[in-house]
Amino acid sequence: MPGTILITGCNRGLGLELTRQFAADDWKVVATCRDLDRAEELKALERQYRKLQVYTLDVTDYQQMAQLAERLQGQPIDILLSNAGYYGPKGTLFGRVDRDEWRKVLEANTIAPYMLAETFCANVAASERKLIAVISSKVGSIADNSSGGGYIYRTSKTAVNQVVKSLSVDLAERGITVVALHPGWVQTDMGGPRALISPEESVSGLKEVLLHVTPEKSGSFLNYDGSAIPW
Ligand code: NDP
Repeated sequence: MPGTILITGCNRGLGLELTRQFAADDWKVVATCRDLDRAEELKALERQYRKLQVYTLDVTDYQQMAQLAERLQGQPIDILLSNAGYYGPKGTLFGRVDRDEWRKVLEANTIAPYMLAETFCANVAASERKLIAVISSKVGSIADNSSGGGYIYRTSKTAVNQVVKSLSVDLAERGITVVALHPGWVQTDMGGPRALISPEESVSGLKEVLLHVTPEKSGSFLNYDGSAIPW
């Protein structure tokens, strides 16, 4: 049965494709992005799908987030999906790390997903499916790190994995399931043209995971094909 999904960062990349695929399956999609003037494809989808609503949200603007929560007060959200993410400067090698950029990446990739969960958990608790998912990354896996470097992006995703784990414990009594997801290495602006899979392939896998994940899996880190990724 289609329900309601709220997704962040929907103007391009995985967020746009997630919006497209859920809307095509007759879900009510609350698609957010930080600048509607740079969201032509998203606005075209909004014209195509009656149940698609587009809102402005910079995920690091917590006042704007609270305002959106006020507008959506009382509306159940079956899946709350933190997708928006920022890589920061490429190739952050030892001895060449920009601390200001590091703080920005942590804000977008770690703190914002936490704030999204805190702000909208009442909507999720009021829904049928009660799922919060965060698009993390395998490069945040400590077990998977054999090549070093990448201090900024890696730590932001490792930290959000820990956020997911704590949320899964803290929100269990409200019946909410919380998972971290790896989308694969995907051909988006972030993944680059040499990435292994298309946004369509990644999202069709992610969608299956989102639709079939069970409460027993709460607090886990799952690949887009549903397999577990070591922390
Ligand atoms: P893109 O760079 O293509 O898109 C990133 C999206 O996040 C854009 O919509 C961007 O909006 C949005 N965003 C960034 N910062 C903010 C903010 N402060 N507020 C609102 N929106 C924001 O990346 P992908 O689509 O590839 O990435 C989606 C998610 O998947 C990210 O969390 C990323 O870390 C993760 N991921 C991606 C992988 C890949 O191979 N592509 C691999 C592993 C994880 P704007 O256009 O305004 O900048």
